[in-house]
Amino acid sequence: MSRLIQLVIGTPYGRLETIGPTFAKQLGKQCYGHVPCRCSCGVECVKLVKHLLSGKTQSCGCLRKELSGARSRQRAADKRKDARNGEENTAQSAVSNGAAVY
Ligand SMILES: [Zn+2]
Repeated sequence: MSRLIQLVIGTPYGRLETIGPTFAKQLGKQCYGHVPCRCSCGVECVKLVKHLLSGKTQSCGCLRKELSGARSRQRAADKRKDARNGEENTAQSAVSNGAAVY
């Protein structure tokens, strides 16, 4: 039986911060320490203590999504750039219209 490690509430682990007391939870055949956390993105989740301590878990999952999606996001960003240019033109004409009225 492994001892349950109590993490100090409010300790940051990567993007996560512990927000509650550690509790033991059955996972398969073994019992593991879990701790409720809040991610910097605002998501609250329960993580394995050993994963936090080893650095394996550093976010609610958003960090991994960002890293794996970085490539496809770059392509999407290029597309959005084109769309934004259109918006900027609209905004500029709106501003000049406003200036004319003023
Ligand atoms: Zn997150």
